[in-house]
Amino acid sequence: MASQTGAIVQQSLNALMGDSSFLPLIQDQRREQAFQSLAAILSTPNKVHKAFLRIALDNGNVERIPAFRIQHNDALGPYKGGIRFHESVNEEEVTNLAALMTLKTALHEVPFGGGKGGVAINPRNFSEKELYSICKKYVQYFSDVLGPDKDIPAPDMGTGEREMDWMMAEYKSINPGSPYLGSFTGKSIINGGSLGRREATGKGVYFTFRYMLHDFLQKNSEWLSGSTNIFAQTALAYKDKPFSIAIQGFGNVGSVTAMEAYNCTALRNRVVAVSDRNVTLYNEDGLDVPALVEYAAAHRGDLPTSNEELNTSGITANVLEREDVLYLNTDVLFLAALEDQIRGDNVGKIQARIIVEGANAPITGEADEALAASGTIIIPDILANAGGVIVSYFEWLQGRETQFYTEEEVYKQLYAKMQKTMNSILPAYFGDPLPLRQNCFVHAVTKLSTVLYRQGKLY
Ligand code: GLU
Repeated sequence: MASQTGAIVQQSLNALMGDSSFLPLIQDQRREQAFQSLAAILSTPNKVHKAFLRIALDNGNVERIPAFRIQHNDALGPYKGGIRFHESVNEEEVTNLAALMTLKTALHEVPFGGGKGGVAINPRNFSEKELYSICKKYVQYFSDVLGPDKDIPAPDMGTGEREMDWMMAEYKSINPGSPYLGSFTGKSIINGGSLGRREATGKGVYFTFRYMLHDFLQKNSEWLSGSTNIFAQTALAYKDKPFSIAIQGFGNVGSVTAMEAYNCTALRNRVVAVSDRNVTLYNEDGLDVPALVEYAAAHRGDLPTSNEELNTSGITANVLEREDVLYLNTDVLFLAALEDQIRGDNVGKIQARIIVEGANAPITGEADEALAASGTIIIPDILANAGGVIVSYFEWLQGRETQFYTEEEVYKQLYAKMQKTMNSILPAYFGDPLPLRQNCFVHAVTKLSTVLYRQGKLY
């Protein structure tokens, strides 16, 4: 497990060691041993599957492409997590992401374990036929370890419903006669996907922000006004003020988050900046987000990159450098691109007071500490971006019953689940010195540890 997740898991265990209500039946020397066992189990994946996919390219060449499926922990249910197509994919990265999935599903009471997959390619450099072949090969190479009750992949960066449909179809041909709808989630609706799955992560990210900064506050403002917790104080300071918002990433998560922020009537938001792999677009009066979404949909997901492109599409914005989105003086910064975006070397330039992690692990451990010290509020990945896996769970359930929910029902259940998680964390958090990330980890580790203990895994 990469150091950051491992370090926070260790911190969580340290915090729990002295808590007498945690595993009360394990005492004295046995307690120390049990904590060591927990640290060993949670910091290591159960299984690492690696393959070099043999792919025949359109030009006749054969390439060997590194691919992974990492199964971190299945104490709470079948392994679950996306498959990422990105050039940076490597074993350490996928292992860390798999561990985050274990913690995310535990935190939100989703009955799955944690896993993650990856293929080390830039999908933009491959034709549709080549990508189809990569998807098929991925399932062929890992077919023994995948399945609706074993390990259920889903989309992640660089993959979407098209890839999940291809993979499910391959799984079905390899396992004739077996149930297959639950083998992959994030499929297209016509292939057994769930309404709302594509939007789920972005919707959940925005909902988490809104709930924490507004809904929870409205209901508890009297009690919160007595709290010395920095989050409570910040939330109260923003009670009647509008939020200026910057969003890094305009893909499946960032663009939906931007639309939610733009359309939200509960808060007076101004989405002043969005960015993608090419540019940052800035307008201090607020960007026309629907026009940008429409533009990206018509241009392979890319935002306009020049004044000319902005003019022809009638969008008013200044074109800035790609990285600039991180350093603007806004109230809120949503990180919905890649991991490791805020690091020791650039954390000093961050001005936003509230950061929401739509991507997984976008802030390094070093930067996280620096931000906490400067009083920046961080709503962490495992809390904020679980909408995807939650609706994946709904998709898996719907596939089992072959009964499908309406879109309205999906969002209602998604928000109810995320709200339940926040309600279980926030009262303790607002009276607690631990930052929110650590608080979420303690929750997840408590659940996992108790289950591991009861399953006899600490002997
Ligand atoms: N890839 C998404 C995540 O990181 C979703 C995983 C899933 O739906 O299983 O949470």
